[in-house]
Amino acid sequence: MKLIHWMSRYEIEKVLLSRLQRFLTKHETYPEPPYWFWEGELDGYSEGDSFCEACIKTIMPDAKYGDNYTGGSAYESDGSCVCDKCSELLQYTLTDYGVNSELEHFLENPLEKSDLENTFTCYALARMAYGVSNKSQIRDFIRIFRFVLTKKP
Ligand SMILES: [Zn+2]
Repeated sequence: MKLIHWMSRYEIEKVLLSRLQRFLTKHETYPEPPYWFWEGELDGYSEGDSFCEACIKTIMPDAKYGDNYTGGSAYESDGSCVCDKCSELLQYTLTDYGVNSELEHFLENPLEKSDLENTFTCYALARMAYGVSNKSQIRDFIRIFRFVLTKKP
């Protein structure tokens, strides 16, 4: 008697997820981390804003890391993180709320194969790929790729 191990749907989805994570890690852009200052208000910006390091230096030419500003690593966000001055993409990870709202966005706006050539789109997709944490989120994440995975090249 042969013993055949049938993978459950969930096991298959986890394999697919790890393949998608690997693909996205290879194709995503590498934005710089966010920085922020603690000087109150400056140039119309405030402490809650995120910046690329070049913009911090524009707003505060004499700023020193540790004295006037800090940062340098991604933080959890409810959506994508961009520099509040120049709009350049900055590193982020997604909160659970962020994962769900990104999933909703990509399920409503179907992905095209050509979107996967965009390193910024891959960065956004990768943040979801590493943020999904339950069965239903993993299933929704894979559904985002249904056209890409089934369409012939
Ligand atoms: Zn900037």
